[in-house]
Amino acid sequence: MHVCVIGAGVIGVTTAYSLAKAGHTVTLTDARERPAEMSSFANGGQLSYSYVAPLAGPGVLPNVPGWLLRQESPLRFRPRMDVHQWRWSLAFVQACRASVSDETTAQMLRLSYLSRDTMNAWLAETPIEFGHVRNGKIIAYRSPESLEKARALVAYQAARGAEQRVLSAAETLALEPSLAAMGSDLAGAIFTPGEEAGDCRLFTEGVFDLLGGLPNVTRTMSNPVRKLRRRGRHIEAVETALGDIRADAYVVATGTGSRQLLGPVGHDVPIYPLKGYSLSVPLADDDTSAPSISVTDYERRIVYARIGRVLRIAAMVDIGSRDAKIDPARIALLKEQVHALFPHLDLDRAVAWAGLRPATPTGKPIIGNSPAADNLWVNVGQGALGFTLACGSAALLTRLIAGTSTPIDAAPFKP
Ligand SMILES: Cc1cc2nc3c(=O)[nH]c(=O)nc-3n(C[C@H](O)[C@H](O)[C@H](O)COP(=O)(O)OP(=O)(O)OC[C@H]3O[C@@H](n4cnc5c(N)ncnc54)[C@H](O)[C@@H]3O)c2cc1C
Repeated sequence: MHVCVIGAGVIGVTTAYSLAKAGHTVTLTDARERPAEMSSFANGGQLSYSYVAPLAGPGVLPNVPGWLLRQESPLRFRPRMDVHQWRWSLAFVQACRASVSDETTAQMLRLSYLSRDTMNAWLAETPIEFGHVRNGKIIAYRSPESLEKARALVAYQAARGAEQRVLSAAETLALEPSLAAMGSDLAGAIFTPGEEAGDCRLFTEGVFDLLGGLPNVTRTMSNPVRKLRRRGRHIEAVETALGDIRADAYVVATGTGSRQLLGPVGHDVPIYPLKGYSLSVPLADDDTSAPSISVTDYERRIVYARIGRVLRIAAMVDIGSRDAKIDPARIALLKEQVHALFPHLDLDRAVAWAGLRPATPTGKPIIGNSPAADNLWVNVGQGALGFTLACGSAALLTRLIAGTSTPIDAAPFKP
């Protein structure tokens, strides 16, 4: 079968690779000159296989007044005269029920473990250099109450295959001495030894390069797709800047650009851009100012990952920012918070970036056959976990397109 994949972020590139490995003829096309130039460019780098609980959870709603009022909040909500924003926010509120978020967590764990296994199988076959490390992850808590709640999550996740340990403050500092500045504020941590990290852009570029060497793949970059042309229940072509692309099947993997493509053919995907920021701080080889294990500062919702000779720091969720422009006030706040935790880091050399997470209200991606046409497929909405979920999402969609049995239940992700 000839499949046209639209979008060369981490989701589209892994989808194209998985389809090509399954023997399909693949055309991969993107508006940009290079892959991973949008949301996949400088994200947090976390392959957070055991931390997939959605943003929508029972603890969220009491915090909403603070997000509306406090400028320094890690989550900021800017209300707009935008029906889509309000519909999305309402669905988000509904997804905050404990029963929904628990079920989502269990479904996401199955997808994330599929992702981990798929990525590692691909890398065992053909290695890619992207600063990949399996150095574990520490979630550090200041509040003893939050740590207690996390204990319950650890128990819930343990029953679903996650290997995690609760650490006291002293045990946390013994494992990761660079957290010393937390001092007596540190209540303890959850340590997940199996967590991984890497550079999402380098991984995406690596897979893109592999695609370039496959005889059954064509890559067409700098080629915005303008329209999906539909006849009845069939997409007959995609109209692009460089002319029509005709294929047997089409996959939309255009992240936050998916609504614009799918809306005109009648598929309304509930994806909203959640803006976030990152800093990339160059490190010396023997640098002890940065953590060697990936760290999440839970109360500030800041993640740290050492990727090769860079410390990648990512944070903040701004709801209601339409573009990926850098807000200097948010970067200044982030630097202030990072400096408080890691005072010896040279933040003057940090490179700032902002990106948009393609988020659904529940936090679950949308993977499967579009209701708009029989030969139209979507792989979108991976939100805050696109790097983590990419390879599993690609493997799942490949099996759905082939019409064979799927490695995990695909129903929770059905469009
Ligand atoms: C601050 C921040 C930190 C993050 N940290 C992590 C993390 O630590 N771990 C993790 O797993 N995830 C993380 N994420 C999430 C992750 O980056 C995203 O989920 C992921 O990059 C989404 O990939 P994508 O391929 O769907 O979208 P994108 O990377 O945006 O790719 C979409 C592609 O589609 C193309 N496109 C769009 N419209 C068209 C069109 N009409 N025609 C042709 N091409 C088109 C674009 O040019 C783009 O290349 C983070 C995100 C942010 C913003």
